[in-house]
Amino acid sequence: SEDIVNDLPPVRWIRINPLKCHPDGNTEPVLAELKKKFTQKVDNWSELVPGSIYYDEYIPNLFGIHPTDKITAHELYKHGKIIIQDRASCFPAHILHPGSNDIVIDACSAPGNKTTHTASYIFSEPPKDKKIQIYAFEKDPERAKILQKMIKVAGCSSNIDVNVGDFTKLATPEKCKGVTGFIVDPSCSGSGIFGRKFFDSLNRRKIDEKDDEDDAVPDEQEEFMAKEELQTRLAKLSSFQFQMVKHAMSFPGAKKIVYSTCSIHAEENERVVIDLLLDKVVQEWGWKVASRTEVVPSWPRRGKVEEFEEVFRDGSSHDPQQLAEGCIRALPKEDGGIGFFTVCFVRE
Ligand code: SAM
Repeated sequence: SEDIVNDLPPVRWIRINPLKCHPDGNTEPVLAELKKKFTQKVDNWSELVPGSIYYDEYIPNLFGIHPTDKITAHELYKHGKIIIQDRASCFPAHILHPGSNDIVIDACSAPGNKTTHTASYIFSEPPKDKKIQIYAFEKDPERAKILQKMIKVAGCSSNIDVNVGDFTKLATPEKCKGVTGFIVDPSCSGSGIFGRKFFDSLNRRKIDEKDDEDDAVPDEQEEFMAKEELQTRLAKLSSFQFQMVKHAMSFPGAKKIVYSTCSIHAEENERVVIDLLLDKVVQEWGWKVASRTEVVPSWPRRGKVEEFEEVFRDGSSHDPQQLAEGCIRALPKEDGGIGFFTVCFVRE
């Protein structure tokens, strides 16, 4: 339908999962398999046509293919050797970049894209023992089942401790000892998301069509009500997002926290960063926004400087320009995928 065509994403992003590249995590054999199906290499994702492939310049082992190319029927996909994950959604684990000595909490894990991506950094090759190095939290029991399934397919279920419940209540430094880093990707308005209808149509899943109800309310009034509703919703979401990051910040051994949303609204993005920086307790804990050099420096689209300028004026110890540079934004479609925001907090 027209609806689905309008929802057409420019790229479908797939990453090779080194945790399923036995015995040594070498991704070359999987890439060789992919090259059999995708024979033409293009220099830019905007040049993708069916049967071609783009090698991403920002995230290792990530590739773009044309959205009409069916990949879910491929053996590599079925065996978890490749995972479908939007490019921007790959930024958090890449920025956190945990190594073999790190212990990470993924605060809001399901369906598990960032959890398994994080695992691929901790284990440069498929893990051989059952050492827990990731604590994954997920509040929704149904979604937690999908998470369990995904980490099994991705080959890291014995190294991830899945906890079903509220991260702010269940996760404590006593339970999760030695935590060094966090992925905090909480529920958000999802205003940057598109393309679901299209991919659902490809996968022949049922699409939830919203019924067009009779317009009883005049247009202008409806627009006003919708704006009010959105503001109330964003206020609720941002205070929840703030609490999630603040709880992560309370862990004494943590050095790095990556916060992300798939929202285009400043309320859930730069404003959450501002509220955290202004919080006295957060200041005492010593958290700062990481500089651009630590967060995919070559990615051109950064945070909105005007949001920081509004709060941090002359005489403030914060430089709005530097704060904005420390954030990453991705625009829906224009930047090759969903709308996204990422920032990294660090401390010595
Ligand atoms: N990080 C996931 C990924 O990359 O696949 C996507 C996470 S999704 C944006 C947010 C998730 O947080 C939802 O599954 C939601 O149920 C969960 N959630 C919401 N509040 C939570 C809480 N207080 N504790 C743990 N999980 C929570």
